[in-house]
Amino acid sequence: MILVRHVDNTKLTPPQQWTDRAAKELEKLHEDAVDADKKFLFSEMWREDAIRDRLIALMDKCWYCETSFVRSPYHVDHYRPKSAVAGEAKHRGYWWLAYDPANYRLSCHHCNSGGARYGNQSAGLGKGARFPLLGQRAPEGGSLDRELPVLLDPVASEDAELVGFDRQGFARRRPEQPYSGHEVAQDLCRVDETIRMLALNSDLLTEGRSTLIGSVIELVQLYLIRRDDAVVAQYARKQIDSLTQTTAEWSAAAASAERLALLAHDRSGDDAPPAGETEANAAEGADGGTEPQTATADGHRVDLRTLVAALPPAAFSAGGIALTGRGKRGPAKATLLEDGRIMCFRQPMNTPTSAARMAAGDDTVDGWAFWSLTVDGKARTLADLRDTLIAQRG
Ligand SMILES: [Zn+2]
Repeated sequence: MILVRHVDNTKLTPPQQWTDRAAKELEKLHEDAVDADKKFLFSEMWREDAIRDRLIALMDKCWYCETSFVRSPYHVDHYRPKSAVAGEAKHRGYWWLAYDPANYRLSCHHCNSGGARYGNQSAGLGKGARFPLLGQRAPEGGSLDRELPVLLDPVASEDAELVGFDRQGFARRRPEQPYSGHEVAQDLCRVDETIRMLALNSDLLTEGRSTLIGSVIELVQLYLIRRDDAVVAQYARKQIDSLTQTTAEWSAAAASAERLALLAHDRSGDDAPPAGETEANAAEGADGGTEPQTATADGHRVDLRTLVAALPPAAFSAGGIALTGRGKRGPAKATLLEDGRIMCFRQPMNTPTSAARMAAGDDTVDGWAFWSLTVDGKARTLADLRDTLIAQRG
């Protein structure tokens, strides 16, 4: 089951005339590349309607956040940034992919260039030239097959399967999906990092998704309760189909809500509405509800589900445990919840590193060393607590 919409761009073919011009432009870049100090000059051919219209034809909404825009043009984003890589001053960017349509993703302004908000606070700069990896970066002009991008890629179907949504409209990593070995090795979660960098839980998105999820749940209830009335059932079915179709705005969240409502109904065994279902027992994202909700074997190196289970429940009696940290911008605060999530700027983050980077406005912070909490009157870092736990368990 795919939750974020996967875009199949394998059949994307620009007009021949565009391809010929692009080949000439690329030749110029190769000539310029010989001089390490020369600044690349790009002809912004990716902005042309011939390209944008073809990308829109593949999926007419932002490929990252699924927002549809009527009166604002989409950006054509380079998935691998063309002229720089954030945090790597010497990197000249993936210039050799500047005119490669396979590197283009349709994007809204917020995902590409920032401007999204959390309450009265800016949600950051958007994707821009950020392109962190879990391993080695490919040499200039070299093969990209072994690169492991942190940012989820809308054209990679396996990436789309990693994301789910809760009832409040927040995107999140599907809890039953195991972390990859590379995520464990780097102590970070690709979904959480993508949500953070692209502000996929900005106010606009969570409000839009939660309204949509509410509508879908109501329609599913109507469909189930009135299924003996063909006209009503047909109406509800049609509405559900239009909200969940691949091309509809935020339809990944709508599809997730439909499954959640049906699952809740199946479990209740009668016609009781699933409205009272909480996120935890609705097993959001669990196909058939059989997948384990507990942390995976190595998960405790990435998120806090194992750690919170080892803390006394009374520690959460005030609603959560205070976390403190200190970054470039000064002191930072967050709250560790009983389910292992960290509330930071009213955003539920699933991993300490993404929460710390959000709090500190710094893409390089390690959240395990950043956050401390007080245990028996003594401040201890999450890394310290984790290491103690791992040592205890052998
Ligand atoms: Zn977007």
